Amino acid sequence: MMQNLPFEPEFEQAYKELASTLENSTLFQKKPEFRKALQVVSVPERVIQFRVVWEDDKGQVQINRGYRVQFNSALGPYKGGLRFHPTVNLSILKFLGFEQIFKNALTGLNMGGGKGGSDFDPKGKTDNEIRRFCVSFMTELCKHIGADTDVPAGDIGVTGREVGFMFGQYKKIRNQWEGVLTGKGGSWGGSLIRPEATGYGVVYYVEHMIQHASGGKESFAGKRVAISGSGNVAQYAALKVIELGGSVISLSDSQGALVLNGEEGSFTAEEINTIAEIKVQRKQIAELATQAAFSSKFKYIPGARPWTNIAGRIDVALPSATQNEVSGDEAKALIAAGCKFIAEGSNMGSTQEAIDVFEAHRDANPGAAAIWYAPGKAANAGGVAVSGLEMAQNSARVNWSREEVDSRLKKIMEDCFNNGLATAKEYVTPAEGVLPSLVAGSNIAGFTKVAEAMKEHGDWW
Ligand code: NDP
Repeated sequence: MMQNLPFEPEFEQAYKELASTLENSTLFQKKPEFRKALQVVSVPERVIQFRVVWEDDKGQVQINRGYRVQFNSALGPYKGGLRFHPTVNLSILKFLGFEQIFKNALTGLNMGGGKGGSDFDPKGKTDNEIRRFCVSFMTELCKHIGADTDVPAGDIGVTGREVGFMFGQYKKIRNQWEGVLTGKGGSWGGSLIRPEATGYGVVYYVEHMIQHASGGKESFAGKRVAISGSGNVAQYAALKVIELGGSVISLSDSQGALVLNGEEGSFTAEEINTIAEIKVQRKQIAELATQAAFSSKFKYIPGARPWTNIAGRIDVALPSATQNEVSGDEAKALIAAGCKFIAEGSNMGSTQEAIDVFEAHRDANPGAAAIWYAPGKAANAGGVAVSGLEMAQNSARVNWSREEVDSRLKKIMEDCFNNGLATAKEYVTPAEGVLPSLVAGSNIAGFTKVAEAMKEHGDWW
């Protein structure tokens, strides 16, 4: 039970999603003292808010809000991305930081949970304006972070370029080269596979779902995969699906959705790369949709998400844009289109109504296939996992090969899947013919690991 909850709708949603799965399991019957841990873990250890003043190209003073939520350090230094987007506020960063605690626990690496960012909008800004903003943002943030304290990374609106500007300013002020940020450039401490890690990781996770549900008979080959978003996560998820023989049948951005015209075909790797190029320039996919090569093959629907606009069957859905991008009605439409696997590349990609729809269909009713849903805190943990591997390489002053990092990522995603599955079987009364709840299993596995560490630290008793 949360007391005196401030008006923070996104955080409240994330808290209730976790708390309801703990309540509906046997966890609190077996360990009633963990209710106290839930109360303690839902309050951030520290929230930092600050003013960011910077100068635009016209010499005008601009003001933004900067934040860092240092939510939980039981398992290691605070770890989680920075988001630069006009919608950023404390509720959104608290929900993201809260999810991050349990996600990081699921990676098996020693990382606490945090999240930060600013309501700064990188769209329409010049490179010089972005650099000046990043410098000003880090001038304050650098007082509160460090390789053994808090290690931010990128998120929406923060790419390797912004990480570079912020790293440079940290180094100047602190006179210290250290792995204080992850997602760094390859020649100055970044890990290979970090840009790809979240998207690849989602697909590796879903491979295990498909194999488990089909008794090892099926894979991504031949699957029609609907993806939302067209940023970092969506691009690399799409490329990995294509590599594994699946078809990518949709992408989107904040202005609209791009879906295949008919029931056959797939985005090609070349088309994904073209989209990646325009996203570096912060342009919209609407611009591409008017070009002959795209307009003959795809339909662009302004202001829409892909889920209800796809012709033909959908086997897998990977929401990979932002929070609450699948509604209850869209969840029903996905199921009606044949979708059996839903895994979130985005954080809290599904509304609670959508999760309830997916979770109610884990059993195979006569004439209908079972639906399996994987929450972001499990399915998209590959990004932060490789950030953790970047921290390890920085500490040891070594660089692992692409193959080494990729094989570690695969193993972490496999363990994350198996951990959620086994924990669901342990704590949620199993019913005949029903797939175990990955959302309950992942929540309970992440929560118990953090709660036990906090107890040993004397954070609750
Ligand atoms: P990017 O900024 O690279 O891409 C975000 C994509 O989502 C863009 O296509 C963007 O459209 C679209 N988008 C952003 N806001 C909205 C909105 N309000 N409505 C509809 N579409 C929107 O971010 P990432 O790919 O890194 O992140 C995507 C999701 O994955 C986020 O939820 C993030 O928290 C999560 N995530 C990211 C990780 C990472 O390693 N990057 C790790 C784990 C989770 P447009 O181009 O028009 O802005």
